[in-house]
Parts: sequence; C-alpha cells; structure tokens
Amino acid sequence: MNRVRVTPEQIDHYNKPGPRYTSYPTVPVWDHTFGEADYREALAAVATQPDDGLSVYVHLPFCAERCAYCGCNATVTRHPHVVDAYLDRVERELALVAPQLGGRRQVVQLHWGGGTPNFLNEAQTRRLMAMLDEAFLIDRNGEVSLEMDPRIGSRAQVELYRELGFNRVSLGVQDIDAQVQVAIGRIQPFSQTEGLYEACRELGFASVNVDLVYGLPYQTATVFGRTLDAIIGLRPDRLACFSYAHLPQSRSNQKQVDTNGLPEPYAKFGLFQMAVERLTDAGYDWVGMDHFALEADEMAVAARELRLHRNFMGYTTRPAMHMVAFGVSSIGDMAGYYVQNDVGLGRYQKSLDADKLPVVRGMKLTEDDQRRRAAITHLMCNLELPFAMAADEAMHESFLRVAGYADEGLVIVHPDRLVVTPLGRYFVRNLCMELDAHLSQTAGRPIFSKTV
Ligand code: SF4
Repeated sequence: MNRVRVTPEQIDHYNKPGPRYTSYPTVPVWDHTFGEADYREALAAVATQPDDGLSVYVHLPFCAERCAYCGCNATVTRHPHVVDAYLDRVERELALVAPQLGGRRQVVQLHWGGGTPNFLNEAQTRRLMAMLDEAFLIDRNGEVSLEMDPRIGSRAQVELYRELGFNRVSLGVQDIDAQVQVAIGRIQPFSQTEGLYEACRELGFASVNVDLVYGLPYQTATVFGRTLDAIIGLRPDRLACFSYAHLPQSRSNQKQVDTNGLPEPYAKFGLFQMAVERLTDAGYDWVGMDHFALEADEMAVAARELRLHRNFMGYTTRPAMHMVAFGVSSIGDMAGYYVQNDVGLGRYQKSLDADKLPVVRGMKLTEDDQRRRAAITHLMCNLELPFAMAADEAMHESFLRVAGYADEGLVIVHPDRLVVTPLGRYFVRNLCMELDAHLSQTAGRPIFSKTV
C-alpha cells in the first residue's frame, strides 16, 4: 500500500513552503497583544470544566552543548545553579497558574521536553516532580513521559525516572552514521543509544520512542538505510522520522552545519519514502505524517480506528484536552485558547520575578477557527475529511478545493467523505493548506518549511 511512485515533477509541484500544522491557526497568526488577562480568562474557562483531565507540558531548555542542526529553544550551560534558578521560576509559575484551574486538578498526560530533560541532576529532577505533584494530581497510570539525550543518559537516570513514575521515554538519535554526526555537530556512538535503550527496556518503560531525522548532510540512501536497520533491530514501540529544515537565516547555529552533503529535494524525499517502506515491512504502521508505531501499539490501533489526535506534544490517542504548559517558550492549548510564554530565558525569568505570567502571545479561537482546526487535525491524523465537518458555505468551498486534488490522484471523493490516497499522504500538508483561512497572512514566515 505504501509503495507509490512519486516523480521529480510531482516533488517540484507540491514542494511549497507551508506550516506543519502543530497548531491551527498557526503561530504567526497569534496576537502579540494577548497577555496576562487573556491567559487568566483561558484558565478560568478550564476551571469551569473540573472533570476534564489535564495534559501538562514542562519545557526544560538546558543542554550540555548546542547541536549545529538544532531547531529547538535550547540554552547551553555547564552550571547547575542556572538550572536551580530556572526551577525557582517554574515553581513560581506553577504557583500562579495551578490555583486558577479550580483546585488540584488531575493530570492524565505529563511530558517533559527540551532542550534536554535528562540534563537535570537527580536533586533537580526530584524537585521538579515534587513541585508538579504538589500542584496537580498526576495519574501515574496515564502517560508520564520525557525526552532523553542518550549522550548524557545513564541507567541510574532511567532508574530514577521509573521510580518517579515516568512510563514513556523518547530517545533522540537522528542518524547513527559518524560522518553525518560530525556534519550536524552531534557525536553519538550507537553503543550509547543501544545501552540506554536496553536500560529503558529492562527497567520496564511501557513505551520507548526513537526520534530520527532525514535530509541531513551526507545522509545517502545507504547511510540512512543502515540507521533504519539498526533502529529496527532495537524494536522501539514508536519512531518519529522528522524532516530536517535547514534555515540558517532564522536559526544561526545551523550556520555550523556542513552543507556540502545536504541531499537535493528528490533524494531527500527518497530517504523518507525508504523509511516508510522499510518500517512498514518491519511491522510498523505509518501513523499521521511522520510517525510509525508497531501494529499492536495503541497509537497504531487508534490510527486504524480513525481516532488519532494531535497536539503540541505530537500524536496522541487521547481526545483533545486542555494542555497547560510551563517554562520558557512553552505553548498551552486550552478551552479554545492558545497561549505562549516568552522565548527569551532572561525575560521569562524576569516576568516571574515580578509575579507576572510570562505570556507574550496567544489567541482566542473563533468558532470558524475551531471547526477548521478539527478538520485539519482529522485530515492529518486520520487521512480523511468527512463532509459533515464542513459546517458552512465557506468551509464547504474549502472542502471542494481539497476535492479538486482528486484529478491529481491525491484524494478519492466518496459520497460522504474525501479519502487521502497513498500518493496524497506524502503531500497531506498541501491539502491542509486549502483549509487554512489565515494562510495569506502567514505566507513566507520562518515557521514555514517545505515538504521535503
Ligand atoms: S538537538 Fe537536542 S540536545 Fe542538541 S542542542 Fe538541540 S535540544 Fe539540545
């Protein structure tokens, strides 16, 4: 099913810059005048729905060194007191936000992302979890997850995370090839990845995910094929295979990337297509845009049953819930509002020192935004668009524009829905762009990347 021929002409035709739709409306549309009062309004709206479980995200921006290819909000430090001072501010933020949610709310999904969450030492890790436990009722039977960098990971850390109730982990790998690793400034021998992976398995994580990146310098089909085979050999429950976006104008650290071996668009597309074919042959289902899960994994089951969802943490089997986010640059998504904290570490900390919520932009979604968001999410996750989701004339017109791609073989028109074809799946972002009522406002912004 996944073996489709894609021509260089098709790649050229569909390879337009566009959003990845981790949110709709996308971040450039959000309002910079959105501030503390708006955030309080959003929190009050969540408080009126006390039975909804919450999803909580904590951003931990620290890393031991900066990888050249990195596109995350990351801060390099070697000093533990810098992390302690940051945790003081996260504690303050928790104290300002949590009481406004109407009591100690139940959290059914907790994620620590970064940066590098396992850069925190044992005392800092215990402190952060204690702070969260004090503010919330964290369900250890829910999803409690974190990201780990295997280069600084250890069995002792894994033991600590299991003791604290983490049950899911995501390991950053990207590519195991030495030349690729030198080009992207991230040296990570496979033995480190393998050792940490084994420790995660032995200590009983319910789910282990591995992140790969395609489109890196010197990543030929042979090189990436070796990486795929080695990771398939480990048998993680889930894999993410992200496209590398080389944007040195907006991410100055990427100027350090050795661009000599960067693959051309068609070769880059071929790497992703190879990943799809090799992983599906090895028993993984292709989930959403760029994720893969073992056929029996709940994410693969949810995708087959058309009940997959997506939020800022990625794909999830849980229906949309309020996501409350803490830490520098973090993004919350609750009760029809998006809220983003300051991306500058100094400014984030200064706001909290003045007892102010560090929110710098956000948006209250209109009904049209919410309906289009539901349609885009459903299309990206479940690869279909039921006509019943077109609530009014304007949306119906957008659906017709998507239906127009039937002539090009990207969708099939059924009496009650549009269904994305195996070819259309590679270009699902182009279909989503037809549903985006704000696109003309955002074209050309740095958040845009090409399909390949
Ligand atoms: S890629 Fe990960 S480890 Fe490297 S600098 Fe970025 S956040 Fe830190």
